[in-house]
Amino acid sequence: MATQLKCTQCGEWGEDLDRCPSCAALRQVHSTFANQENPNRHKAFEMPTMEWNTDPQISAWKRSLINTGKAMHWMVLAVGGAIAWMAYWVAV
Ligand SMILES: [Zn+2]
Repeated sequence: MATQLKCTQCGEWGEDLDRCPSCAALRQVHSTFANQENPNRHKAFEMPTMEWNTDPQISAWKRSLINTGKAMHWMVLAVGGAIAWMAYWVAV
């Protein structure tokens, strides 16, 4: 059975998921988890990984500054993670 959707513009019911068959108004997508045609949203959750900035529009010295910051950020996260991990084993 097809889902019937009510148009917010004209109040007519229809089966088309993208637009209203009566007045052709586009339907609004409300779901947070709906994949909105964005390839970055295909996975609900993905572990972040270290990625160097390779944007050619940013000049080389600025990029090295950004990448140094990224490396330091991950070091801070690694130290923080190590302390949290040790605290867990002390508490247990
Ligand atoms: Zn309509």
